[in-house]
Amino acid sequence: MISFSELKLIDPIKLALKEAGYTHPTPIQAQAIPALLEGKDLLGCAQTGTGKTAAFALPILNRLVEANKRALPRHTRVLVLTPTRELAIQVHESFATYGKHLSLKYAVVYGGVGQSPQVKTMSGGVDVLVATPGRLMDLIEQGFIKLAGLDVFVLDEADRMLDMGFIHDIKKVLKLLPPRRHNLFFSATMPPEIEKLANSILVNPVKVEVTPVSSTAELITQSVMYVDRENKRPLLKHILDDDNLKRVIVFSRTKHGANKIVEYLGKAGIISEAIHGNKSQSARQKALENFRSGKTRVLIATDIAARGIDIDDISHVINYDLPNVSEDYVHRIGRTARAGASGKAISFCDSEEKVFLKDIEKLIGKNITLVEDQPFHSQVVVDSRLLSKGKAKTLIDGRNKLPNSRERQRSVHKSKKK
Ligand code: AMP
Repeated sequence: MISFSELKLIDPIKLALKEAGYTHPTPIQAQAIPALLEGKDLLGCAQTGTGKTAAFALPILNRLVEANKRALPRHTRVLVLTPTRELAIQVHESFATYGKHLSLKYAVVYGGVGQSPQVKTMSGGVDVLVATPGRLMDLIEQGFIKLAGLDVFVLDEADRMLDMGFIHDIKKVLKLLPPRRHNLFFSATMPPEIEKLANSILVNPVKVEVTPVSSTAELITQSVMYVDRENKRPLLKHILDDDNLKRVIVFSRTKHGANKIVEYLGKAGIISEAIHGNKSQSARQKALENFRSGKTRVLIATDIAARGIDIDDISHVINYDLPNVSEDYVHRIGRTARAGASGKAISFCDSEEKVFLKDIEKLIGKNITLVEDQPFHSQVVVDSRLLSKGKAKTLIDGRNKLPNSRERQRSVHKSKKK
């Protein structure tokens, strides 16, 4: 294993790493940093938790210092695009941490908050700007941010960007970038559209791949519990009654569902907080802070809100609802077992979700252990046949419209006859 001292990073950066307690580069850092220091374009197939932020931030900082240029007012030398505000904040914090002994300026812009402080920060020009696409385009259109003269462009979590519908904003940003620039592209998964986008941005990239999504999380103990939908809340309470669950993220498919869980647990004497897109930015930040500091033990999150959250020591991930996109399962359980620690992932599965479970098992290449020894184990789920994926998705998405179990049963019955 190589150490940071073997990488050609300048001393102030090495010092910051030492202060952060990093001794050895993670695999993606060991592979990416030398190539990036040489100014090569990079295609990184890696998810959050692999150390990918430092993999790009360290060489970028190094090169900024070596180039010794100044950004013009309203300009930035480096642009990092991230899909969510939480990730933008974390990436910005990482630059500030690794670059704390350098006299460079770092800024972050994202939506959901007033733009004035962001405009003010940008007015003098910055070295590194981390941004979410919507607010960035807003500020560009108003003339507060200029991308001419940009040296480095980083697209982080490209697959999530696409999922969240940011492709048009990204294409608009790309049109504003100078043609000669250093490009870095990261994505946890590489479906064809992502590859196409990467090809349109990168020039002769070095490819770096760590922990392919399908084989990730070897250290995570994964289990599944069969439970009827109406028993999911009592089952969750039953599990959370165990104090050994120190820091728990519970994933809900919907924002409304997340609120309902918080309400139910509150009545049962278990304090939890929810983060999702309908919460204000300050409410989300506060919930995250409380969770990070250990004030709240249980965080209820939707996929998008949880994306990129960097909180160490998460002991358990509970999938209250199974995701219908299998990759989301891997992202979710990746919240635990960070940086070599072990963690546990427990998934609830009702009869409509069995098809999702099957897809997830196919993706991760193994069967998830079924735990029957729990008070709400459902024989109905054991016996139920798989719905087609389209049908299950319709049923789940239409739950508010289809709460009637007879109707649901009829659908199940119809699909069985097929
Ligand atoms: P990331 O994948 O960038 O979200 O990083 C995941 C976590 O690993 C963060 O908490 C980082 O602070 C931490 N980390 C990154 N690189 C290292 C390293 N070389 N040694 C120890 N921790 C690291």
